[in-house]
Amino acid sequence: MTVTTVTAEREQELLQSVPTGLLINGEWRDASSGKTLDVHDPATGKVLLSIQDGNSDDAMAALDAASAAQRDWALTAPRERAEILRRAFDKVIERSEDFALLMTLEMGKPLAEARGEVTYGAEFLRWFSEETVRHYGRYFTSPEGKNKMIVTHKPVGPSLLITPWNFPLAMATRKVAPAIAAGCTMVLKPAKLTPLTSLLFAQVVQEAGLPAGVLNVVAGSSASAISGPLMKDSRLRKISFTGSTAVGVKLMQDAANNVLRTSMELGGNAPFLVFEDADLDAAVEGAMAAKMRNMGEACTAANRFLVHQDVATEFKAKFAAALQKLNPARGTDPDATVGPIIDGGARDDIHTLVQDSVSAGGTVVTGGKPGDGDGFFYIPTLLEVGNDNPILSEEIFGPVAPVTTFATEEEAIELANASQYGLASYLYTRDVNRMFRVSEQIEFGLIGFNAGVISNASAPFGGVKQSGMGREGGAEGIEEYTTVQYIGMADPYAAQK
Ligand code: NAP
Repeated sequence: MTVTTVTAEREQELLQSVPTGLLINGEWRDASSGKTLDVHDPATGKVLLSIQDGNSDDAMAALDAASAAQRDWALTAPRERAEILRRAFDKVIERSEDFALLMTLEMGKPLAEARGEVTYGAEFLRWFSEETVRHYGRYFTSPEGKNKMIVTHKPVGPSLLITPWNFPLAMATRKVAPAIAAGCTMVLKPAKLTPLTSLLFAQVVQEAGLPAGVLNVVAGSSASAISGPLMKDSRLRKISFTGSTAVGVKLMQDAANNVLRTSMELGGNAPFLVFEDADLDAAVEGAMAAKMRNMGEACTAANRFLVHQDVATEFKAKFAAALQKLNPARGTDPDATVGPIIDGGARDDIHTLVQDSVSAGGTVVTGGKPGDGDGFFYIPTLLEVGNDNPILSEEIFGPVAPVTTFATEEEAIELANASQYGLASYLYTRDVNRMFRVSEQIEFGLIGFNAGVISNASAPFGGVKQSGMGREGGAEGIEEYTTVQYIGMADPYAAQK
């Protein structure tokens, strides 16, 4: 892979190559309203590019295309779908530097992290290309021996895929790849803050040979204008959503009216447990990854550091020192180790959480304020808080680490479970028996055991409680896009009996 130096010309050249239309039935179209939507650079606040602003009419045209393409697409050979995915993987990897830079420009993450997301996000294409041809049903004899039973999987049908802004490539590949694998057609609605990566990704998937109408992309300024009419249309059969719990709940209510299959990847409030026997240097390294990757703007971000009282002082000192070494800067700066927050409103919300935490008795150990200058930076922050501090029950979605203490394993479990969310959690201990005991008792879909980053295309990703339902990735990921059909066959030996 050639690592290109980022110049202003290079940025412009890349931006000019990004399709700015709506992808409907294999064609890039203008929005029916004639309106455009500006996409900004969060490191400078400046406009990067204007794209077509899709509305409900465009969304319906996209569903028309998805619905018309569904029958033939469902009948394609699994190998054909697999090879399209595999070619798309190769093309995304070939254009790694373009995808990485585009994500850095529209979302803000440092280029090194954006490159990591390309590797991670592209892997869903390769993983599901492999799953496509290994997705079997079953054939068996009924228990009383009379009938033959056949269980098959069919594509669930046209699907609406709604993605957030924090991982612009991976959130799209995590949904589009299993939908292609299963034989579903789809309408993808990317977040309005970061639609460019999805548009470039859609172009690449078209180049990989995806038939017209299978993947349609409608970005726009009003999410509900796009999703609303589709959710009511009986041709839509599924919604897969990644985003906040509040919006997820609203979409589940809409989905109920149309009895849609739903996959919901919602908010998180991950506890990061450090026991007294943990390797503290490894725990700090894991804490930095779990907290600071993506500027803390991740559903899996460690949100509550629960540290045994005997090691808390040392852990906090080492963690604060590591946070102070970070360099917030525009993600294209080779020295940037942390980028800006996605926009001014999100940065203000983070600062309000910190101020409220301090008002409730929390102490700022380091950071605790917005960065200077242009762009929406927030200084990496460590807070010492009590177990009842309000920040522990909020999804911070920013580079702020509240640390509190516990005295016993039972207390640690109780604190970890004291949340409406149940997505990611992290355990640092050298005691594998403790790992099993704690894992069985904490209510989370994902557990990092002495590991600060565990997302992987081959693993089922998803949460419990208000973090949602369904899984993305792993063998489970394709099931979200299939429906089961059972064929009961009359006794083939009946005539001989
Ligand atoms: P968000 O505000 O819920 O938006 C997510 C997506 O939903 C965007 O495409 C947004 O469109 C769309 N949307 C907003 N309101 C809608 C409505 N009324 N009807 C239909 N669609 C609507 O969340 P976000 O701020 O982008 O992302 C942050 C949240 O996502 C956090 O809570 C985070 O934990 C969660 N997340 C979860 C996972 C997971 O796998 N569990 C992964 C990543 C993020 P617009 O952009 O146009 O508003």
